[in-house]
Amino acid sequence: MRCKKAARLLQLYLDGCLSIQQIRALEAHVAGCAACREELDLLQEVSCAVHDMKLIAEPEDLHTQIMQRVAMAPARHEAPRFSPLRPSLPQLLAIIFLATFATFGSIVSQPSLRRLLPFANGHDSISIAFMHVLHAFGGIDSGTLTLAFWVVGTILGVCITLLLAGDEMRSQWFKAMMERLPVR
Ligand SMILES: [Zn+2]
Repeated sequence: MRCKKAARLLQLYLDGCLSIQQIRALEAHVAGCAACREELDLLQEVSCAVHDMKLIAEPEDLHTQIMQRVAMAPARHEAPRFSPLRPSLPQLLAIIFLATFATFGSIVSQPSLRRLLPFANGHDSISIAFMHVLHAFGGIDSGTLTLAFWVVGTILGVCITLLLAGDEMRSQWFKAMMERLPVR
């Protein structure tokens, strides 16, 4: 018997699948061939190790368990939870102040609207104070003044929205703004 054939028969020999003639021939070869003896020893070792391994039975509800855990695991891309429209008292006061200021500013800046007010209609201290302010802006033409009102109004609007939006929204807004700013 040649080593090549012996190698083919070794596993069958261990499994008890050889005829007596084959067993005798193989044993005769292995007795005189160190390489095949070594191969047989190795196969025997592996065979013993496999035999000693205890099979672990999977629980019947393994699939259910896995699906439950998947369902319970928090989603990785969960959207941040915002709690808008819950400003604190100082924030609320600031909102009211800014909103009043913006509204009052837009009314006072238009003479037709100003005349409808029970106050500031031309002869009281508020009107006089406003006229002084207008007088101070006297050097500026009306287009620039409108633009200034528009800019101030927009800033006030953004401030009111941010105050009202809550901390999470505010930080997200600042983050988004910073990301969009050109890198210096
Ligand atoms: Zn051999």
